[in-house]
Amino acid sequence: TKPLLKVEGLKKYFPVKKGMLGKTVGHVKAVDDVSFTVNEGETLGIVGESGCGKSTTGRMLMRLLEPTEGKVEFDGKDLTDLSADEMRKTRRDIQMVFQDPYASLNPRHTIEKILEEPLIVHGVKNPKERKKKVHEFLEIVGLSAYHAKRYPHQFSGGQRQRIGIARALMTNPKLIIADEPVSALDVSIQSQVLNLMQDLQKDFKLTYIFIAHDLGVVRHISDRVGVMYLGKMVEIAESEQLYLEALHPYTQALLSAVPVPDPDFEKEQIILEGDIPNPANPPSGCTFHTRCPFKMDVCTKIVPKLVEHQSGHSVACHLYNEVGQQ
Ligand code: SF4
Ligand code: MG
Repeated sequence: TKPLLKVEGLKKYFPVKKGMLGKTVGHVKAVDDVSFTVNEGETLGIVGESGCGKSTTGRMLMRLLEPTEGKVEFDGKDLTDLSADEMRKTRRDIQMVFQDPYASLNPRHTIEKILEEPLIVHGVKNPKERKKKVHEFLEIVGLSAYHAKRYPHQFSGGQRQRIGIARALMTNPKLIIADEPVSALDVSIQSQVLNLMQDLQKDFKLTYIFIAHDLGVVRHISDRVGVMYLGKMVEIAESEQLYLEALHPYTQALLSAVPVPDPDFEKEQIILEGDIPNPANPPSGCTFHTRCPFKMDVCTKIVPKLVEHQSGHSVACHLYNEVGQQ
């Protein structure tokens, strides 16, 4: 396994401004020192509640948003060093699929025009060649050339997401960042789209970052899963390992909320107390301490570091480090 993407110390701080002069009075640490690696051909799931920084992380990887700090190495290149022009060229290798395909597809353009656009941007000059590729990719995502002249509103939510996926594939990318691609779809449609994404991954040797707010959705598609809370990665492990033996109390709570298919199997539900704290004024020490059932004195004082607990399984919690044993 070869790493395709290496993220190191990624941060995004948004200034909080006050008054008529817009004086900066603080920062929202939307993403606060996040590091991870994605290997070629694998799927990394990133999970957390809304506002945890997962989408902001995804957008920074494509430099749709400039990081405040940190390094993003893709295919041997440091993306944060690239000029706008070099970044534009690199974007053909990294594509994004969005949660709401309706909002991301221009309503006044035909599907053909929408799918042709990335080809034009990346220099495919021959219109015949472009049309051929558009029709080919419509078939690949389970639609047909017959749909090419239609407009986005003429499709169902699931079909629109297939179009969003086709658009992402047009430039033969290596990495696809899918930001909650099935969250807006009915459960029955969700599995169809997930199956399609898995088939495409094999056929086109794609690497995925799959962002979701629910651990249930990423379970089958992910090789590894990272869990984020208030801008930090709090646990990361191989998928099966995480579901069998979640270490972080937050991950345990998220898992307890995933419905089990067997109604006879009673699962102990962990109810998290309190709301997600205000990210502009996060709790001291471990930011999860205001909701954690296992909170210790040290948790309010010292920020737990993400450390490897066993091979390939890292967690940021004092229950598993020396600080917490004192
Ligand atoms: Fe809970 Fe403390 Fe672990 Fe944070 S460090 S998750 S508060 S036990
Ligand atoms: Mg989001």
